Amino acid sequence: PSSKLPQVGTTIFTRMSALAAEKGALNLSQGFPDFAPDQRLLQRAADAVLHGNNQYAPMTGLPALRGAIAALIERHYQREVDAASEITVTSGASEAIFDAIAALVRPGDEVVLFDPAYDLYEPAVTLAGGQCQRLVLTAPDFRPDWQAFEALLSEKTRLVLINSPHNPTGSCWQSADLDALWQAIASRDIYVLSDEVYEFIHFGQEALSVHSHSELRERSLVVSSFGKSFHLTGWKLGYAVAPAAISAELRKVHQFVTFCTVNPLQQAIAGHLTALPEETFALGPFYRQKRDVLRAALTKSRFKLLPCEGTYFQLLDYSAISDEDDVSFCERLVDEVGVAAIPVSVFYQNPPKGQRLIRLCFAKEEATLIEAAQRLSQL
Ligand code: PMP
Ligand code: GLN
Repeated sequence: PSSKLPQVGTTIFTRMSALAAEKGALNLSQGFPDFAPDQRLLQRAADAVLHGNNQYAPMTGLPALRGAIAALIERHYQREVDAASEITVTSGASEAIFDAIAALVRPGDEVVLFDPAYDLYEPAVTLAGGQCQRLVLTAPDFRPDWQAFEALLSEKTRLVLINSPHNPTGSCWQSADLDALWQAIASRDIYVLSDEVYEFIHFGQEALSVHSHSELRERSLVVSSFGKSFHLTGWKLGYAVAPAAISAELRKVHQFVTFCTVNPLQQAIAGHLTALPEETFALGPFYRQKRDVLRAALTKSRFKLLPCEGTYFQLLDYSAISDEDDVSFCERLVDEVGVAAIPVSVFYQNPPKGQRLIRLCFAKEEATLIEAAQRLSQL
């Protein structure tokens, strides 16, 4: 058939994880933890499968889970959310993002993305018939130029897709960025989709979220993922929070994409979140320790470390080692030193010329991080 997505192949995550498995390399490419989630949460899931309800969950998510999410948001961001009309549980943040784009973007609409952007945004916009406008962020801090952003907006702009803490760069926005975004869109008919899957993995003081911005949040969908917050990326459990009128549109799509999300896993998360809400506060220090172990172990290497303010990704500049493009360099890393990484150019529409960056995932045991750093230091 003639492809609706002619530019799209198999994602870099599938390709690099397969290559790592084939060659027996340490896999620091695709972002997922190599350590076990909380045993108590796994036990709740086992109990829910064996003794709980294994039939369809309510379309918008279990009331107990939506209630626990509302409490989490109130605790962290002092935002009151109506669990019945403003929270929708989805099959991962991916589904929430896809539903939101399908619900809001019409053929001919423009969607602003920040380049580099997570790989699922653009294909979702393309399938909805929209056009992406990309504002390039540049190393080392990857902060937006808000004047250039305003210049990108047009009568056709329907949605702005933001992501902080940012995958793949690890940069975090400041409150001035949210203010600037609001200033730019306030008088226009534009929505914001805020991908906050790494909301609890940041190393500064401030947990910056659209939830905390009283004006912006009225125009936004905020998306998060328990895969990141509870170290279980394979559960694919996420949610979208938006004012009732926007949530109603998202739900029209969600009910036909999946209808509902895995019932026993929702029961497990609801119980865990209600019993141990303080767990999520600990992710910053937990991952800062891992980041610092990786960075310290790489100081004698020829890689240059870029700043990392959040997420579990560390960028490395390899321009002192090689002039190759980053895809070839990552393939060679697997073969020659047995470490799999992600080339950063794949997240750009037009990668900056001469930029030589790879991404390492540090959601790994310290021994894995140290071993990977030792291998990379041979180069
Ligand atoms: N957005 C970003 C920025 C991500 O890194 C990820 C996970 N890799 C997702 C969305 C998707 O999250 P989920 O696995 O919950 O669908
Ligand atoms: N979000 C993960 C990453 O950035 C990958 C998820 C996926 O494999 N699609 O590494």
